[in-house]
Amino acid sequence: MRARAGAIDTIWDFLIIGGGATGLGCAVDAASRGFSVLLLEQNDFGKGTSSRSTKLVHGGVRYLAQGNLKLVQEALKERGMLLKNAPHMVSKQAFVIPVYSYWDKFFYGAGLKTYGLLSGKYGFGRSEILSRTETLRRLPTIRKEGLDGGVLYYDGKFDDARLLVDLAATAASNGAVPLNHVRVFSLQRNDAGRITGAACSDELTGQVFVARARAVINATGPFCDSVRRMSDPSAENLIAPSQGVHLVLDSKFLSGTSALMVPKTSDRRVLFAVPWHGRAVFGTTDTPVKKPELEPRALEQEIDFILETAAEYIADPPRRSDILSVFTGIRPLVKSSGATNTAVLSRDHTTQIDLGGLVTITGGKWTTYRRMAEDAVNQASEHHGIERRKCVTADLPITDSKTAADDLAESDPKLAELLHPAFEYRAADVVAAVRSELAATLEDVLARRTRALFLDARAAIEIAPKVAAIMAADLGESESWIADQLKSFNTVADGFLPD
Ligand SMILES: Cc1cc2nc3c(=O)[nH]c(=O)nc-3n(C[C@H](O)[C@H](O)[C@H](O)COP(=O)(O)OP(=O)(O)OC[C@H]3O[C@@H](n4cnc5c(N)ncnc54)[C@H](O)[C@@H]3O)c2cc1C
Repeated sequence: MRARAGAIDTIWDFLIIGGGATGLGCAVDAASRGFSVLLLEQNDFGKGTSSRSTKLVHGGVRYLAQGNLKLVQEALKERGMLLKNAPHMVSKQAFVIPVYSYWDKFFYGAGLKTYGLLSGKYGFGRSEILSRTETLRRLPTIRKEGLDGGVLYYDGKFDDARLLVDLAATAASNGAVPLNHVRVFSLQRNDAGRITGAACSDELTGQVFVARARAVINATGPFCDSVRRMSDPSAENLIAPSQGVHLVLDSKFLSGTSALMVPKTSDRRVLFAVPWHGRAVFGTTDTPVKKPELEPRALEQEIDFILETAAEYIADPPRRSDILSVFTGIRPLVKSSGATNTAVLSRDHTTQIDLGGLVTITGGKWTTYRRMAEDAVNQASEHHGIERRKCVTADLPITDSKTAADDLAESDPKLAELLHPAFEYRAADVVAAVRSELAATLEDVLARRTRALFLDARAAIEIAPKVAAIMAADLGESESWIADQLKSFNTVADGFLPD
């Protein structure tokens, strides 16, 4: 798949900038319609927001409270399609809202009934009012004082960065060329001012090249305004970036298989605690930021806020020293005039066609990436006079890339050995990441091909030298490459440590 120089000589039907959920979704969509597609990601697939979600494939219970039924219904449909097309990746997850008054039980019970009804034939399971005993059976770690019962409902759960690997593989198997570590730094125009491609730099080799295309799609999420200004320097911001923090904790703080949902925190948000890869992910926050960063850092008060909210619900609450990893993502929220609080901005997606025909697709959420891609490819085709071909992703199975590592582990017992007792990852996962999942850096492997850095930052730092050595042996790299990789990985990993 690493056909980097091949990008120079072709006129692609679609050039997609950005390798998160939206960009890879567009690549899968356009390639499966039979178009030629090049996707360029400046860092790694999912380096932006798409590896830093709450891991939910969901309709968005909180948008229900805002009365946005259309948005919820559309997302619930997408949730169902994703389960159908990637059953290896999406699983149904039971959520319990603990309730402390009869009124709350009635209120949330009725709301979740509506949620279930809106999902129609895409339903994940019936919501139920739970007794106090049943609530405690499902959420054994929560506070008992004043507990009246609970409301049970179902949503989906996934591994966001791994789904990106699967989308890249699906796009490639349909003929697309997805390239990571290639940054677009300017857009090319013809004499009529129409955008005809992009100038890019290969961040691994330093090579600079021009990729030409009939249509260019800007799917750079929270960074989309900087790419829009490559086309129109006077373009106003479309995005009001806002960051969200998650804490990863030992599963002893959320034993059992149900997730916890706190429907109203002190800042009018919801807080989730979700079982994930043998840990519990608690989050999130909503803090407006001036400028999106590629490696955003959690603020002290965001960490405190999650710990304080958790302490209201968990009987033996987590302390700062219990945090295994902290990760932060930036929401690409589409601005609406007059709104001051990012928690109430729309999660709906937006397409925008700028000067020269640059098509920007942004907003939405992970769950709705397929629908966003369909809209973007339709609009780009229409605007650029590219023949209209039917979208086929509603029924397109998504590749399961994990099997490559399993095959390697089966063929060589040494590759089947675990890298660290804290993880289920084996040397085979590292080798498969390098050979068939376009992992090029130590961080690619430890943060996104495996999720080691997200699950336990200290343990990930411990295995980093071993993983770098396995990669170097497979890539034919030197000791100095290992040293460079360790240095840059440790800098990033520092932001995942709680202190
Ligand atoms: C805290 C948080 C929790 C969330 N939880 C959920 C959830 O549980 N479920 C859900 O459905 N949604 C969730 N979302 C929303 C979802 O994660 C995002 O909507 C989605 O990931 C956005 O994807 P994207 O591809 O548009 O942006 P990104 O993932 O940010 O991708 C954009 C990419 O563009 C690249 N790029 C930027 N500039 C250039 C350039 N010049 N050249 C090349 N590449 C470039 C970046 O490196 C980046 O990788 C959450 C969001 C946040 C912040």
